[in-house]
Amino acid sequence: MRCLKCEYPLWDLKPGPCPECGEPFDPTQHEFRPNAVRFCCPHCDQAYYGDGEGGHLQPRSFDCVGCGTRIDESECIVRPLEGADRELSVHPGRAPWFDDSIGWFKRFLKTIGWSMTAPARLGRELPVTMGMGSGIAFFTAVQGIVLMVSVLTLAVIFGLMMANLGVLGGPRGAIAMMLAVTVFTVGGGFLAAIIGLLVGGALVHGVLRIGGPTRGGIGRTIAAVGFGTGPTLLAAIPLLGTWCLGTVGGIWAIVSTILVLAGAQAVSGFRASIAVLAPVGLAMALYAAVFVAMMTMTGGTAPAGGGPLPAGVTATPGDSAGLTNAEAGDG
Ligand SMILES: [Zn+2]
Ligand SMILES: [Zn+2]
Repeated sequence: MRCLKCEYPLWDLKPGPCPECGEPFDPTQHEFRPNAVRFCCPHCDQAYYGDGEGGHLQPRSFDCVGCGTRIDESECIVRPLEGADRELSVHPGRAPWFDDSIGWFKRFLKTIGWSMTAPARLGRELPVTMGMGSGIAFFTAVQGIVLMVSVLTLAVIFGLMMANLGVLGGPRGAIAMMLAVTVFTVGGGFLAAIIGLLVGGALVHGVLRIGGPTRGGIGRTIAAVGFGTGPTLLAAIPLLGTWCLGTVGGIWAIVSTILVLAGAQAVSGFRASIAVLAPVGLAMALYAAVFVAMMTMTGGTAPAGGGPLPAGVTATPGDSAGLTNAEAGDG
């Protein structure tokens, strides 16, 4: 059981202000595995076990069998079971992705919802035992849907246009072209996205560690970054997603990632912001540099006019293979 604001461990403490940050706490704000903790009477330390929903006492108010005083769960001192590992056996890790009581589709949808609307809670409730695979799996599912929908949309549009123009010799050629474009783009996009998550996550963790210790290792950071990307699913809304909601989802995902990371690694929002924004800024700077370099290069060759490349192009104007290549390059 940790402070909801600063993650300070609150075991064996009388409910009240958090000793670290002053945020008020009591057991009823937390969730436990049934019978996994002892709720102890604040007057005589008589222990009670919670088997209600969220591992709480049922009923929550009663007369203590030890001292006869009327007590409420919100006054009880929470102690771990004797010999139990506090984090492993008691931290419930209630994040929906790890909830065995619901099916995979519901787990996915609920995780999307938390990633969009409750990212700090999602980060906090990622199980301590979690590996980075779970975050990568969630990320892969989201990016897979986004890629499939946006690429299929584009392929259908271009396929229809080309079929109309008769470029590919009728609908059969257009469909083959569509499939080829889809397979190559989705495959390449997938690979790029996963490499981006691993490299980006490693950079985020590096920057995070400059600021001090974290609750978990690099795997937890990579998983947290993966779980923060839920809002990018907005880009999967056909047509609107590709050109408009995709940007909104991207910015939203950056904010969510910061908050998931802060919760997962028990660091301040400021530290998490620096850690996430540094690689994002680096990626944007790289992108801008490549863009400027390409503009400069094309701008540099165009006025040259009589160089060897333009001469070579004009030398084969009637070559049909050359023409087809040029058209394919434009499309
Ligand atoms: Zn606190
Ligand atoms: Zn008592």
